[in-house]
Amino acid sequence: MLLKTFHRGVHPSYHKELTRDKPIEPAAIPGRVVIPLWQHTGSPCEPTVKKGEDVTEGQKIGDAKSFVSSPVHASITGKVKDITMHPHPGGAKVLSVIIDGDGRGTHPQDGSGVEKKDWNKDSDGVALEKLTPEEIRSIVRDAGIVGLGGATFPTSVKLTPPKGILVDTVILNGCECEPYLTADHRVMLESPDKVVWGLKAIMKAVGAARGVIGIEDNKEGCAMILSKAASSILPELKVVLLKTKYPQGAEKMLIHALMGRKVPAGKLPFDVGVVVNNVATAAAITEAIRYKKPLIERVVTVSGNGVRTPKNLRVRLGVSFAEVLIQCGGLVQEGEKEILAGGPMMGIAQKDLDVPVVKGTSGITVLRGGEIKPLRYEPCIRCASCVEACPMGLMPYRIGDMGRLGMTGPFKSWSGSACIECGCCSFVCPSKRPLVQWIRVGKMKLRSSSGASGA
Ligand code: SF4
Ligand code: SF4
Repeated sequence: MLLKTFHRGVHPSYHKELTRDKPIEPAAIPGRVVIPLWQHTGSPCEPTVKKGEDVTEGQKIGDAKSFVSSPVHASITGKVKDITMHPHPGGAKVLSVIIDGDGRGTHPQDGSGVEKKDWNKDSDGVALEKLTPEEIRSIVRDAGIVGLGGATFPTSVKLTPPKGILVDTVILNGCECEPYLTADHRVMLESPDKVVWGLKAIMKAVGAARGVIGIEDNKEGCAMILSKAASSILPELKVVLLKTKYPQGAEKMLIHALMGRKVPAGKLPFDVGVVVNNVATAAAITEAIRYKKPLIERVVTVSGNGVRTPKNLRVRLGVSFAEVLIQCGGLVQEGEKEILAGGPMMGIAQKDLDVPVVKGTSGITVLRGGEIKPLRYEPCIRCASCVEACPMGLMPYRIGDMGRLGMTGPFKSWSGSACIECGCCSFVCPSKRPLVQWIRVGKMKLRSSSGASGA
């Protein structure tokens, strides 16, 4: 398996115009939230609260001893109604803490209104110079921060280079190449100081001297705003505009595009001296360090031609998809609809709108009519379009079949696990074969056959 050194990418219709110019709105505080104890890659959390217990906003309600894991927190103040299995947007049922709010919701200190302060001074009680790398990692872990681009890998683990590894560069991923989604775009425009300060904190945690932000060239305005914010916080920051193509934001592709370094098969960015984080993750790190705010809310793009009023909303984790959609005017009446957690390339179709927004929910996309992928597919005609489209140099038509048929041995030896689930193969397939869904099934079967965890 080879990462292609040159990948043309694919060019789906982006539809960013539906929400790109819509400022982030705070959503209503929900009356009930469902907090899954597994919202990240790695070990699930154990509940640290009991049924009937009172909890306050930001209180830790689940944690795990395992290194690769991330605690979860109450996103509203109220009482634990139950701890039970509940549908998760990933498709499975997950042990979840259900909290009924007491109606006294508040928005926690998130730094609103302090953007004009001098970010290099101790204006909010925290100066980065006073924190050690270990303290930064510890704050990030305690705050439950994971990759907010959708990968949900625990960020504290990413900030812990293995012994003997030297990291010289931290890349922030501001590409947001998935169609429809504009949440990261708005975070960069509205909170550039938090993004840049978070990058500086990551650089300190991993000991890197260089920081780079990669943005697709359809977001030129973000590049200017971030560069301006950097002039007082991190003057040496490089903001690089990249060609708009899908999947420009895939971690290994981004490292190659920005630095010309190739991450070998089965290796991590650490192995080429790089750490990659999403721009919204960097902003969340700033909020955790400066305002002691755990990850209890996130920005979600609600978009698509099937929703009445597309928006970018800042929502509490655990609120149901149904409630979020209501705050966007609900669904349009006409036509068949498909609701996805995420965008149309990597998103997961939802049957039950009671599923909660989780840490990895970057968007809720409602497709309509002809945009919906047909359920029927045709036999493979061996055209090799999927092979050509795969940025990871895989054989999607083969590993797709292996996943569908549960052939875990061949799936593993044909590097099925290296699939980044970008969906390019399904997008180009003339026979409309749901290759990425089959590959996901293959990865799940492989994980369960080896007893590993993941979300
Ligand atoms: S989803 Fe398809 S195209 Fe994308 S990495 Fe996986 S196999 Fe390759
Ligand atoms: S693109 Fe579709 S039809 Fe062509 S080889 Fe791949 S799976 Fe087969």
